[in-house]
Amino acid sequence: MIASKMEGLVKKSSVIRAMFEEGKRLEKEIGKENVFDFSLGNPSVNPPSEVKEALIDTINNEDENFLHGYMNNCGYEDVRSYIANSLNKRFDTSFNENNIIMTVGAAGGLNVILKTLINPGEEVIVFAPFFGEYSNYINNYDGVQVVVEPNMETFQPNLEEFEKKITSNTKAVIINTPNNPTGVIYSEETIIKLAEILDKKSKEYGKVIYLISDEPYRELVYTDDKVPYVTKYYKDTVVGYSYSKSLSLPGERIGYLVIPSEMTCYKDVFDAAGVANRILGFVNAPSIMQRAIIKCLDAKVDVEIYNKNRIYLYENLTRIGYECVEPKGAFYLFVKAPQGDDVVFANEAKKHGILIVPGSSFGCQGYCRLAYCVDYEKIVNSMSGFEKVFKRFV
Ligand code: PLP
Repeated sequence: MIASKMEGLVKKSSVIRAMFEEGKRLEKEIGKENVFDFSLGNPSVNPPSEVKEALIDTINNEDENFLHGYMNNCGYEDVRSYIANSLNKRFDTSFNENNIIMTVGAAGGLNVILKTLINPGEEVIVFAPFFGEYSNYINNYDGVQVVVEPNMETFQPNLEEFEKKITSNTKAVIINTPNNPTGVIYSEETIIKLAEILDKKSKEYGKVIYLISDEPYRELVYTDDKVPYVTKYYKDTVVGYSYSKSLSLPGERIGYLVIPSEMTCYKDVFDAAGVANRILGFVNAPSIMQRAIIKCLDAKVDVEIYNKNRIYLYENLTRIGYECVEPKGAFYLFVKAPQGDDVVFANEAKKHGILIVPGSSFGCQGYCRLAYCVDYEKIVNSMSGFEKVFKRFV
């Protein structure tokens, strides 16, 4: 007999993963060449060659007993120091090893920081559309998720509604930019206003409200848009980073949290996050990956491959008549369901071998997400299907 809390979670379990399975089934039924699977955000670009070299060097040259051993729950000190210095160079910050905790990807990092901060019943605000797993992560600690409805024009956070939704029970706010599922980058103006609201409300309620900036897509940007480094705008910010997308290593589970020294109760938060990393059962982030990462910190995946997909997809979907906000980062595009119902749209697309995820999974009905981390030819070949689906609804 499984736990009753799990029963509900299993039933609701990821629509995205279910789609992925559906894709495999369809491939058998109608042939691989006729299936256009845009459901999963699994990087399609190889990791940069520096990653392989770093891994080989790590395996060949580091002391085995050390390499495979336990370590500080926050991660290797020198690794954290390298990362802090690299951030300082890039963003003009002043972090050191005591501001970095190595984590099991962004998902591990988010769970660590939510466990660290959230008392049962405390509210965590998210902006729709949002990465659906946030709901599960918040629920893991019996937090209450509060959703700010989307601004459908721009998909920048709806700050007026945000301000209204902050209460004396708000403990944290999660933002994600570049955004999954819209590909939108939150502008500096947005971050400044958001920080002002948080400052004002923290004072009003006489308590700190933490901002958690979930940034696995920070390096995947295709325009001149800047992705503001949020700790510089609001001191009570925790940054969650991951190498899953930036180095195409999602299976390796490596990332980190940044906990700035200026933060309210910094020492308590940092120490508690180290303990959370341990008692959640992660114990520490994977050792080989930590040691390898510092040897390829400046390596980058070839974002031009995603960019080519992005441009083709956006130009052709809008040419057909679909509506969507131009994605500028990450590898997702959020397209409006032509007749308004995302589930009906996704089901119709499936009849043409096209797998897309209804926006309801991201707290935003009426849209569907396409993950364009797929082969370019797949995108080109999917277009006649998209045309047929569109004609079906207009
Ligand atoms: N946050 C967002 C917005 C994501 O899209 C993902 C993965 O797709 C994650 C977190 C989890 O990333 P990781 O693989 O690093 O745990």
